Order: sequence, then structure tokens, then C-alpha cells
Amino acid sequence: MVKPFLASMDVFRLPADQVGGHAALPELSSLEQLRVLLAGLDLSQEAFALTDLATGRCLDCNPVAHQRLGFSRETYLELGLAGLQADPEHDAAWLKRQLQGCSAGQAGSFLTRHRCSDGTAIDVLVRFQLMQISGRELLLTMHRDSTALVEATARSERLNQLLLDAEALSQIGSWELVHATGELLWSQGAHRIFETTAAAFSPTYEAFLAVVHPEDRQLVREAFEESVLRGEPYQVNHRLLCSDGRIKVVQERGSTRYDEHGKPLRSIGTVQDITRLAEAEAELERAAYTDPLTKLPNRQAAVRHLAELCAETAQLAPAGLAVLNLDVDQFQAINDSFGTVAGDRLLLSIATTLRRDLPASAFLARLESDEFLVLVPGSAVAAEQLARRIQHDLIHSSQRDPTMPLLPSVSIGVSHCTNAGGDSLALLQAANTALMEAKRKGKGGFCLYSDAISERIRQRVSLEAELQEAIALEAFHLVFQPQVNRRGAMVGAEVLLRWHDQRGVPVSPAEFIPLAEQSGLIHTISAWVVEQTSRQVRAWLDRGLAVPPLAINLSAVQFGLPEGQLVGSLLEIIGRYGLEPRAFELEVTETALLDHLELCREASLALSAAGFSLAIDDFGTGYASMVNLRSLPVHTIKIDSSFVQRMNGDSVDRAIVNGMVRLAHDLNMVALAEGVETDQQWQQLLDFGCDCFQGYLFDRPLSAEAFAARLAAAM
Ligand code: C2E
Ligand code: CA
Ligand code: CA
Repeated sequence: MVKPFLASMDVFRLPADQVGGHAALPELSSLEQLRVLLAGLDLSQEAFALTDLATGRCLDCNPVAHQRLGFSRETYLELGLAGLQADPEHDAAWLKRQLQGCSAGQAGSFLTRHRCSDGTAIDVLVRFQLMQISGRELLLTMHRDSTALVEATARSERLNQLLLDAEALSQIGSWELVHATGELLWSQGAHRIFETTAAAFSPTYEAFLAVVHPEDRQLVREAFEESVLRGEPYQVNHRLLCSDGRIKVVQERGSTRYDEHGKPLRSIGTVQDITRLAEAEAELERAAYTDPLTKLPNRQAAVRHLAELCAETAQLAPAGLAVLNLDVDQFQAINDSFGTVAGDRLLLSIATTLRRDLPASAFLARLESDEFLVLVPGSAVAAEQLARRIQHDLIHSSQRDPTMPLLPSVSIGVSHCTNAGGDSLALLQAANTALMEAKRKGKGGFCLYSDAISERIRQRVSLEAELQEAIALEAFHLVFQPQVNRRGAMVGAEVLLRWHDQRGVPVSPAEFIPLAEQSGLIHTISAWVVEQTSRQVRAWLDRGLAVPPLAINLSAVQFGLPEGQLVGSLLEIIGRYGLEPRAFELEVTETALLDHLELCREASLALSAAGFSLAIDDFGTGYASMVNLRSLPVHTIKIDSSFVQRMNGDSVDRAIVNGMVRLAHDLNMVALAEGVETDQQWQQLLDFGCDCFQGYLFDRPLSAEAFAARLAAAM
């Protein structure tokens, strides 16, 4: 404010253009001379007054001065500088204070308000200069209407406040760096973010970097330097490490201005505290990538992590990366039988065991329901060992948990890759394929993915398609294998299914029945077998043949049908051919019985109540206990052929077969030995007291015609 005043008001040095063409000014030595000078000045825009400091009286003024306020010259002079003041507090003493510290020849300025003749007031900027002329202290003042200035100042103050409020509201601060001097200017908002004050801290770039989290310093410095170098704005998110250890997250943006030679002049920018935003984002991310039950990463997180591991060569361990896909065996049955609360508890206990078992380098996720995923660096062999340990530990940890109703077992499929840049989704798919294969092997299965497995699966899929077609084309037929008593007379027969594929090659039921079970085709196939058997029996009976009870194989899957449906459909079919349930025996394997004991018990009771007799097939392979057997309405125990065939050499197997025969008799059941191929085996079985026999020694499975001939011959 002072400087421009001096330029225009230091009348002794007024430049020529501002003094109305007076090229040279006379040396002033008297008041009179000053007055002459003032009168001569063409300063129509400015108001001047001359005041005697000793008396405070106004000695002179130019027309602009009194006219602007609406006073006559006389009144104006009479009022004097003090009398013109509109604000009561701007009295003579106040005026004196404004001039304090100024000696002759010095200048200054102050803002005040002057009265007008009509009672209003105007804002005035008073610029002054003290002079001594002829020993008198004189005050030369210039009054400029400052309404606009005051308004502008007020507006700028408002704008400034607005900026401060906006900074506070949006947690933002501004800064400016002058490259030539290194001077860094921070706004109040910036000081607030860095938790300093302008009074206590003078910012420099180095001081700023010191507050940046050490791990982010290089990133921040590089972002800034590169932006200055390239002349492009930058934006970088980084952390601040507060003195008390708190961490803030800020977003910084900046850009640089250059001189005409491309030299950087000033960089300006903003810094915004986005800690809360970052926390909210992190929270959202956590929620989106976390399984709510186990708090483990979920499928999305696993997929993302695996993709990262596969993409980054550096991250892949030298021995490669293994993907373990785990699935709880029969989890659905656990949920169904014990409720979802027990199911959840089981999943939680599995998650806990896994967390404990896995090496620190492993990543564990819950994919969905009862499926978990482990990503672990290392070889395929190491992965298999880990899988086996997990399977072992799960059973043992749950044994110690009395709240667990069952011993949970898991099946595990593993895929492995050694090359970085691999297809992570393919790897995941491979682990899942291996898991499916592991599950096919039954509970606690394990499988390491290989091309051979995928080929096997491919073949299975095409076989499944063919099977579907076979049903449509009725490309099946039945064969009948006689069962004989101790004297070798036929007392029954087992109905066995045969299928020749499209090329006419026979496919073993041992191969296609499990497939049909998996795909659900088994229901259609079974219904066909029962229907076809019934039609055949009806035809033989109509021909006057005596038909012994025929044993039909049931699949475990059929026991899972809603209550009563199995019995209902069997009765319906045989009823259509006028047959009774006692014309049939139904075989169900021991393992199927044990795996679905509850379901099987109910269904068996219903079947038995309806008049069907029941046989346990492949007995000895599933370790059914006496207790289980006693609770089931079983008529026949079919001793598995593997025991019969090992009997010759192994005394243990002989003892087992002997034991099974005795067990059957103790439970009032019929003992039937399967797979009898030699006289020696038959003799041995006779010695043990076995009741019935089936095997190549007596007959291979026979076609319907051959079997009818056998029936006719027996009559
Ligand atoms: P399974 O019920 O144990 O049937 C006995 C199997 O042993 C039959 O094989 C039969 O041909 C074979 N066999 C009979 N005597 C001897 C012998 O002395 N030595 C040897 N080595 N084998 C003998 P097949 O017909 O290949 O059937 C295999 C399995 O397929 C059956 O085992 C049964 O579990 C299943 N299956 C067959 N037909 C049906 C059906 O209609 N429905 C269902 N659900 N399963 C069936
Ligand atoms: Ca059977
Ligand atoms: Ca069998």
C-alpha cells in the first residue's frame, strides 16, 4: 500500500505525466509554494487536503476533496481531518496513532470512513505524507474512495474463508514450491493434514518427505520428479507416518509451470487426506473378498491371488506352485442329518485345522459351501504330502472335538505348475477336475491332476453321452447268472445288465453303472432293468416254466429317493406284470448301506415290509458291524468274490470267509459265496457250511434263451 502511494504522492518526486505536464518542479520552501503547486496540479480524480499537525486544522483542499463529500470548501476546511471521520472511534487520538512512527518525509496509509453532507458515509483510503515546511509540520493527505476496495477486500476475505472451509471440509490442502529457491508454501489445510502449524513449522520438500511413510518415499519422489521432467500433472496415493505412529493415507496431485526456456518455475498442487476413504475402500474390499463364515478369503480373492501368482515370474517358487482343491466328503448328508449349525461348526473346525497345518507361505481360501482352496509354493510331491497330512490331521483333530458328530474326511485334488505366466483359471479348473476324480474314489480320496486324467474324464464324458443314447435306443439287454444250493441245484439267479456300445464293444457294468449313478441316468436304467426282468419272468411263467427268485441289483443312489418312491415304483412295475415281491431279491452293496445307513435303513424296512427280500452284496468290503447288520432286515449275505478267490492260498482269508458264514448263520441269514470258480473253492465253502453259490464253476451269466433252456431242463 505504501509503495504506490509514494509513487503518486511523493510530490517532490512526482513523475511528469502525473503532475499535469509540469516537467520540472520548483524547490519548495514555503507553504505558499505548496499551495500554488497543489492548485496547479491537474488531479481531478484525487482528493487532496493539507493539515497543520500542530493545530489539527485543515489548511487547504482541492475541489475534488469537498465536492465528493458534498461539502462547501469552507465547511470542509472547518471540519478538518478529524471532523470528517464517520466512525466515532476514529477520533483525533485514533488518527494520531495511524501517523505514529512516521517522521517528516515519510508516508503511510490507513482505511477509514468519511461523512458526506447528506448523512451517508463512504469508505476512504487515506494516503499521507508528513512534511516540514518553514518549520511547520504538515500532513498532506490524498483521499480515495475505497468502497470498491473494501468490498473487494471483504469478498477476498470471504473467498479466502470459503477456501479454508472447503479445505477443511474436503480434508484438502494446497502447496506451492518455488524451484529457484526451494521455498515451499503450505495452506492452512496442508498444515492441518501434516499436523503442524504455519507458526511452528516452515515446510521444505525434505521436511515433507520425512513425514511420508518410508516405504512410500521413493514412489512419491519419483512421481514428482517425473512429472516435473515430463511436464505432465501427476497424482499419487501414499501414506504419511505421523509422529505418534498413526498412518494417514493421502492423495497428492500436482503440476508445474515453466519459463519460456522450459525451466521449472513453480509447482503447485493439493494434498487430500483420504484415510477414511481408503479405510472404507479397504473395508468394502475386505467384505467383497472375505467369506463371512470362516473369515477366510473367498473364491474371488483366491482367483485374484492365483492370477497374481501366475503372472509374476518372480513370485513363482523354483519348485513351482501347487493348487489344492479340498472338498468335505458327504457334507450334504451332514447338513441334512445334523442341521446347518453343525455343518457350519464343522466347516469352522476344518478352517482352523487347515490354518494350523499349512506353512506360512500357503494361501487358504473357502471357495463355497464345503470347498476350500490352498495355494502353496513347492513341488507336486510336497503338495501330495501336505494333502495327506491335512487328511490325517482333520480326522484326528475332530476326534478330539466332542461336539463333532462325525469324523470329517476331505477329498483333495491337486494341480501343479512350474512355469510362470500360466493360465491361472486352467490351473484352478485342473485342481477341480482332480478333485472330482479323487471323490470318485470314495471318501478321503486324493488325485494329482495329469493329462491322463483329463483324457479319462474326456472319455467318460463321451461314454456318458453314449449311455444317454443307449437308453433312448434301448441298447441294453439282460443276462442271468444261476445261483445254486449245496447240492448244486439252481435256487435263484442274479440279473446282470449288458451294454454294447455304438461299435458293438461290450462295456462292463462296473464301468458304466458308476457313470450312470453320477449323471442320474441310473434311475431310468434301473427302471428299465426291473421292467425288462418282469416282462421276461411273465413270459417264462406264461410258458409254464418254474422261475426261481431273481436277484436285481439296486444302486445306492436309489435309496436317496424321497420316502416310499423306491418301493412305490417297484411295486407299480412288477404289479403291471402280475408279479409278487417275493419273486425278487434286491441286492445292495455293503458300502452303499454303510455310507447311507439312515436312508438305507428306512428304505430297507419299507422294501422288506412290502415283501421283497434283501441281499447285502460284496459283503466283506465295507466292514459292516454286527450292530448295523442286526438293525437291517437282510435275508442274504453275498460274500465278495475277492475273499473267495484268495481263499486257496491265504489262511487268513479262509478264516475270514469261515467267519462270514458263521456271522450270517448267527444272524439267521443265508450265506451266498460269489465268484466261485473252482471245485476246490466250492469244497472249502461247503466245509464252512456256506448255503448258496454263484460263479463260473456253475454258470457264466446266461442269455435269456440259455437261461430258459436251463429252467426247462430242471423241470
Ligand atoms: P456284482 O453285483 O457283484 O455282480 C457280480 C459280478 O461278478 C458280475 O459282473 C458277474 O459277471 C461277475 N462274476 C460272476 N461269477 C464270476 C466268477 O466266477 N468269477 C468272476 N471273476 N466274476 C464273476 P458284471 O456282470 O460285470 O457286473 C459288475 C457289477 O455291475 C455288478 O457286480 C453290479 O455291481 C453291477 N451291475 C450289474 N448289473 C447291474 C444292474 O442291473 N443294476 C445295477 N445297479 N448294478 C449292476
Ligand atoms: Ca450283485
Ligand atoms: Ca457282488
